[in-house]
Amino acid sequence: MPVSDQSILLLGGTTEAAELAQILNAQGFPVTTSLAGRTANPSPVDGNVRSGGYGGVEGLSAYITQQNIALIIDATHPFARQISANAQQAADQTRCPLIRLERASWQQQSGDKWQLIQSEEAAARLLPAGARAFLGLGRQHIAPFQACDDVHFIMRMIDPAEVALPRHHEIILAKPADYEAEYDLLRQYKITHLVCRNSGGNASYEKIRAARDLSIEVLMIERPKPVAHHVVESTDAVLAFVHSFFISVLRSTC
Ligand code: NAP
Repeated sequence: MPVSDQSILLLGGTTEAAELAQILNAQGFPVTTSLAGRTANPSPVDGNVRSGGYGGVEGLSAYITQQNIALIIDATHPFARQISANAQQAADQTRCPLIRLERASWQQQSGDKWQLIQSEEAAARLLPAGARAFLGLGRQHIAPFQACDDVHFIMRMIDPAEVALPRHHEIILAKPADYEAEYDLLRQYKITHLVCRNSGGNASYEKIRAARDLSIEVLMIERPKPVAHHVVESTDAVLAFVHSFFISVLRSTC
C-alpha cells in the first residue's frame, strides 16, 4: 500500500514486533523498529532499526516530531512498563496515535501449582530453605535473590549477569527451549520451584507445561496493568488498525 511521507515507529524487542516489522516492510509501509539495545546479539529484524533509549518522555516526543512519525505501535514486552508508559505519554503530548500490542497472559490450568505474586522480591521471600529454584527471568531481574543463602538457584539468561549473585547458583546461558528439553532440564536439576513472569505467548510457555507435568510449584509474577489507551492482543488486530489508519490518512490528503 502506498503511504504518505510519514512513518511508523514500532517499539520492539519481542517476537511479535519482529513479525510486524517483517509484514509491514513487505507491504511497503515505512517502519522503524526501535530496540532498547541491551542484548549483545539481538535477533535480526527486517527494515530500519534504531537502538538505544530516547532519554525519557521528552526525548521520545522530540523524536516523534523530528522523524514525522504518523503512528506508534508499542509491541514491547508486557513487563517493559517504563517504555510503554513513556510512549503513551509522548503520544499524548505530540497527539500521535498509539496502538499497544499486549499478548494475552497465561491462564492457570488443571494440574498447575501456581502461587500468584506481584514481584521478584515477593518470590525471594517465599522460596523456602532448601528449595532448588529455577529462575526464568532474565539477568536484569535477579538482584532480589542475592540474599537467599539457603536456596540453590539455576538461573537461565541470554547474556551473562552483571549483578552480585546468590551464594548457591548455576548459570545456563540459553534461550527457552521446547517441551522435552524444558522437562529434562527441570528434572535433571531436581527443581522444586519455578519463578517466572506471566509473559504470555508460546516462546517461553513450555517450561510452564513441564512444571505442571512434574508437579513443580510455580511462583508466577503477575503483570502490571497496561497504561495504553488502545490495547489489542494480536498482530492481526495491529495490522488491521494500521491499514485503516493509513487509508484514512490517504483519504484526508486526496
Ligand atoms: P523498560 O524498563 O520498560 O524501559 C527502560 C528504558 O529502556 C526506557 O525508559 C527506554 O529508555 C529504554 N527502552 C526500553 N525499550 C525500548 C525500546 N524498544 N526502544 C528504545 N528504548 C527502549 O524496558 P525493559 O523491561 O528493560 O525492556 C527493554 C526492552 O527489552 C524492551 O524493548 C522490551 O520489549 C524487551 N524485552 C523485555 C523483557 C522483559 O522481561 N522486561 C523481555 C523480553 C524483551 P529511555 O527512557 O531513555 O527512552
